[in-house]
Amino acid sequence: MSVDRKKLEALLQWYKQEIGENLIVALIVNREGLVMATLKGSSEVEVEEDVIGGVSALVEPVLTRITEEFSSGSFGTGTFDTEDHRFIFCEAGPEAIFVTVLNSIAMVDPVFPYAYLAAEKISRIFDGRTVSPVIPKLISDDITPKIERKVDKLQKIKIKSGEYAYKLILGGEGGVGKTSMVHRFVEDSFQADYKSTIGTSIMKKECEFEGLESRVRFVIWDLAGQAQFKRVRQTYLGNAEVGILVYDVTSQDTFESIESWFKEIKSVSPNISLILVGNKIDLEEKRIIYTEKGEELSKKLKLSYIETSAKTGENINDAFKMLALQMIKRYAFAEEV
Ligand code: GDP
Ligand code: MG
Repeated sequence: MSVDRKKLEALLQWYKQEIGENLIVALIVNREGLVMATLKGSSEVEVEEDVIGGVSALVEPVLTRITEEFSSGSFGTGTFDTEDHRFIFCEAGPEAIFVTVLNSIAMVDPVFPYAYLAAEKISRIFDGRTVSPVIPKLISDDITPKIERKVDKLQKIKIKSGEYAYKLILGGEGGVGKTSMVHRFVEDSFQADYKSTIGTSIMKKECEFEGLESRVRFVIWDLAGQAQFKRVRQTYLGNAEVGILVYDVTSQDTFESIESWFKEIKSVSPNISLILVGNKIDLEEKRIIYTEKGEELSKKLKLSYIETSAKTGENINDAFKMLALQMIKRYAFAEEV
């Protein structure tokens, strides 16, 4: 297949202009792991020769994983941190992966919308469709809904009929175990293999369930450390169809904050289906929020409730399954996308 490489390169130039000095390098790689286009950032930081080599080494296992787990060609994204760099991987259609390498001190969140836009455009270029390589500046809140719509559209386009992919978000204070739950759920084989190299991993992933007639796919958005930035937070909480509200059963504060998370999430994603999770039940001796309290709150908020331990894995799958069932009940007869 012939790809308009000039356009790919022009797009990377625009991308570089928008991302600024934190960009170390941006790469477009195909499914075989071959680099299709590269652009080094303009930062004063010397781009070490081995960054690109290092990227290829990282891209390979990620690609293997993506091809295995996203075999239907549906949307997938991940971020990885190494000591020196932060990586953002965005699937750009069935053909390519768009890789952004940032300075280790860069914030990933402001870059995400640009990465999505770029990935969407790359996907179009690979499809041979008309697309402008221009990446617009996304500066104000007014722009945010537009990006969301694009991201949303991007996800929906890739859902095959009869399959469902829902944006899943996690709410709750830092430290309650959200990331641990996701890692548990998405199976940590990758993490186990690559933990030493890439440290923290995975922000999003799709999943399927055995034993359920309908296939339910989740695109999991883990909010990581950006919780303090309300504006960014709303972008990521928006357009979500499912969500998990998590508190830590050993912490009163995290329990008390659930209602405000509930309100905030509902205000940006009013139709979201949520469940309430009390995590860290393995810490029996430290526990201060007991089942009755959790159930009471879940009744008040009209949510299903489940208790988990991301450490032992107890009920983690069931929590996600509970959500899947809610979605099946809710959308089983909705029109196919
Ligand atoms: P997040 O900030 O909500 O994403 O929380 P993390 O997943 O980063 O977890 C915060 C800390 O709690 C980490 O040290 C985890 O190892 C720990 N943790 C998470 N889940 C559990 C659990 O179920 N039991 C125990 N004992 N520790 C947990
Ligand atoms: Mg986290």
